[in-house]
Amino acid sequence: MAAQETVDHKYVYDFAEGNKDLKDLLGGKGANLAEMTNLGLPVPPGFTITTEACKAYLATGREPDGLAGQIEAHLESLERGMGRRLGDPHDPLLVSVRSGAKFSMPGMMETVLNVGLNDRSVVGLAAQAGGNERFAWDSYRRLIQMFGKTVCEVPGEEFEHALDEAKRARGTTSDLDLDADDLRGLVDAYKKIFLKHTGRDFPQEPREQLDLAIRAVFESWNAERAVLYRRQERIPADLGTAVNVVAMVFGNLGPDSGTGVAFTRDPASGAQGIYGDYLANAQGEDVVAGIRNTVPLQDLERLDKRSYDELLGIMARLEGHYRDLCDIEFTIERGKLWMLQTRVGKRTAAAAFVIAGQLVDEGLIDLDEALHRVNGAQLAQLMFPRFQLDHDFEPVAKGVGASPGAASGKVVFTSARAVELAAEGEAVILVRRETNPDDLNGMIAAKGILTSRGGKTSHAAVVARGMGKTCVSGADEIDVNVPAKRFSIAGQTVNEGDVVSIDGTTGKVYLGEVPVMPSEVVRYFEGTLDPDEADDALVRAVHRIMTHADAARRLAVRANADTGEDAARARRFGAQGIGLCRTEHMFLGDRRELVERLILTRTDTERSDALAALLPLQRDDFVEIFREMDGLPVTVRLIDPPLHEFLPPLEQLAVDVAVAQERGEDVAKEEALLAAVRRMHEENPMLGLRGVRLGLVIPGLFAMQVRAIAEAAVRVTREGGSACPEIMVPLVGAVQELETVRAEAEKIIAEVVGDSGVEVLIGTMIEVPRAALTAGQIAEAAQFFSFGTNDLTQMGWGFSRDDVEGAFFWRYLELGIFGISPFESIDRDGVGRLVRIAAEEGRAARPELKLGVCGEHGGDPESVHFFHSVGLDYVSCSPFRVPVARLEAGRAAVETVGSDSR
Ligand code: PEP
Ligand code: MG
Repeated sequence: MAAQETVDHKYVYDFAEGNKDLKDLLGGKGANLAEMTNLGLPVPPGFTITTEACKAYLATGREPDGLAGQIEAHLESLERGMGRRLGDPHDPLLVSVRSGAKFSMPGMMETVLNVGLNDRSVVGLAAQAGGNERFAWDSYRRLIQMFGKTVCEVPGEEFEHALDEAKRARGTTSDLDLDADDLRGLVDAYKKIFLKHTGRDFPQEPREQLDLAIRAVFESWNAERAVLYRRQERIPADLGTAVNVVAMVFGNLGPDSGTGVAFTRDPASGAQGIYGDYLANAQGEDVVAGIRNTVPLQDLERLDKRSYDELLGIMARLEGHYRDLCDIEFTIERGKLWMLQTRVGKRTAAAAFVIAGQLVDEGLIDLDEALHRVNGAQLAQLMFPRFQLDHDFEPVAKGVGASPGAASGKVVFTSARAVELAAEGEAVILVRRETNPDDLNGMIAAKGILTSRGGKTSHAAVVARGMGKTCVSGADEIDVNVPAKRFSIAGQTVNEGDVVSIDGTTGKVYLGEVPVMPSEVVRYFEGTLDPDEADDALVRAVHRIMTHADAARRLAVRANADTGEDAARARRFGAQGIGLCRTEHMFLGDRRELVERLILTRTDTERSDALAALLPLQRDDFVEIFREMDGLPVTVRLIDPPLHEFLPPLEQLAVDVAVAQERGEDVAKEEALLAAVRRMHEENPMLGLRGVRLGLVIPGLFAMQVRAIAEAAVRVTREGGSACPEIMVPLVGAVQELETVRAEAEKIIAEVVGDSGVEVLIGTMIEVPRAALTAGQIAEAAQFFSFGTNDLTQMGWGFSRDDVEGAFFWRYLELGIFGISPFESIDRDGVGRLVRIAAEEGRAARPELKLGVCGEHGGDPESVHFFHSVGLDYVSCSPFRVPVARLEAGRAAVETVGSDSR
């Protein structure tokens, strides 16, 4: 019965059977080809093998039962539809075999074109192409090259060398000058290379070619670069790729043929208009690889007006249908337009905001949908600085502004060198003639990418935009010499290690380091740029979408800030309070001495004196913060880290004391210090005497802080301001700890506050797993909880916060144990579950309990959605991330099924 079910499973869909919503099953490319087919657009016929088939293949190492038969049936129907048979010696059908995962992974997986050509059908293809032998042999050599490289792992350079050799023999540098005889000779050379590396002849049986190509596409899901790309883009590892088998159409049949890529709006700025690149007499991979320089799409109007007009009509139709920017790949075969792909196009962060705003104006989407179309990561990118240019800086070259931002760094020419220098902390710019998927590591490591070839749609441009990395492509004035590790520009030579600056918005390239200035978006958030007066479409779009996010969100957003200055900035960025003021930061700098005194005291009187000296300083700190946050809540956390952090390191001190003793100096004070450091030394300080434990062990310490907070609040209130302090006790694991601190604090507060009208809340951090699991009890003694997800992650996983990320997380990421560090984005299943339990049990015990989070996760976009779903009242994060959290909280609130914004 089970076997029967497997046989019946549907693994292959004709284009006419699918639609755009079946991306999980058919991949993005397959689903959209189906959608276009059903819209009646000119799509070459074909079928899609599902991601399920790929997953089954990857799990077992063989094609699932029934797949071969289904491919056969669909191939027959494709042959019938086209009136041609695969491998027919007289009139052959050729197909392309293309990968296509749910999320676009440009260039990361395999494609094989011209499947179905062999020694006999190449003759038929020439006849089919009106006796164009050159075309037929060129197609055949491309098949052997692509098939050899991707299916049989023949080193690509060997084919490249043979091609260079053929061009040299002909005395040319252009492929186009090779004639049919040259290409026939090249096919022979390629076959020999194939035989040498695989031990077999190039397969002549078309169906075998097809099956091997399909298998290679399945396997390419796990190719190293694909795995790396998924990790970078946070694409799940278990989706698999679909495989599209499509009747070939040819852009390389002569000057009336060609191929191109187009966007329905500018994917860099979002500006309305038609953007794209066209290459006459070429196949698609030539454009994407940036091998030859393209012409702007507008030139097609002159070359082939009929196809141009038809294309424009289709683009308008697709935008209306998808209600979004679409990108398109097309081919013109002897004046007939074919659509090879469309999808909702990748875009820069700026374009995402601008386009979302435009689409609202055009009535295609509403503001909720606009909010869904942008995200916090994009907003964060827009807050990066830009170059500050004055007359001293003249660009030395101009290419295409392929991915915006400003980047300066040392020039490197290889991916390996980029990785090496970046690991040493250097900013590097990766300079290449063009990039290819093998450069991915270097692109990740570099601050920016500069290429001398290619356009907005070349590999470098597409991948850099996806990563949010600055990229200038096609700067053809620069002459790159990779082996010599230099490039030349306007008579000057730039060597590896020299500094250049690139502007991914304007495409300009500068020698040396150009200073940077803050982004307009930051100026808007800071209140120094009025959106109504800004002539910048981006600032207006950001303002509009942020306003909607603020109106929609349920989560409040606070900031983590320890100084008046940070508090003021946080407020400008829209923080609705302070969620974490870490008081230990107030014990650093020149106050260290006072803390040292506190630690070294032997008697109660000495201790009281030391604390009394600290009190006014603490009070002044709080006064400043309360004044800045006038009327907004300020959560002040009592001192948390181990006291020995305020003392000098043990080894250094021991050496200093020994040396001084040797010299016969008076070292009584240093000896006392050394004894204290020894006494306080802990093997696991993160699990030792810190937080509430310190407060319970050192009499008067927390009392001094509570008094400083209450006195500051009273002073600000008497000045006419409004202070709303919330005192937070760290590292609580048992309600008794909190009760003890609270009893003492309440007495002090009552005494200080008197009839001033100041109200002080007392609550706790939930950052020890035991606290989360006993939240019902703890809530009896707490007016609020704030989740310290940094410590909760540390103690939930047993991962030392200070060590593990550098030490071994790379291996955990490689093994897929997690897709992203749990310190960066909340581990929903484990640590998140502790948060959920504590929130539920805390609220059950005390319904009015205020709930927030102040660990790093409070500013992480993914985590904000989780905290929204758990029902917290607020998230708190660093001031710079406040706008991101506001946006994501709004997105979480309007979240609907919607389209994938990736
Ligand atoms: C936490 O643990 O998440 C927290 C906010 O406290 P800290 O990072 O200061 O330990
Ligand atoms: Mg903590």
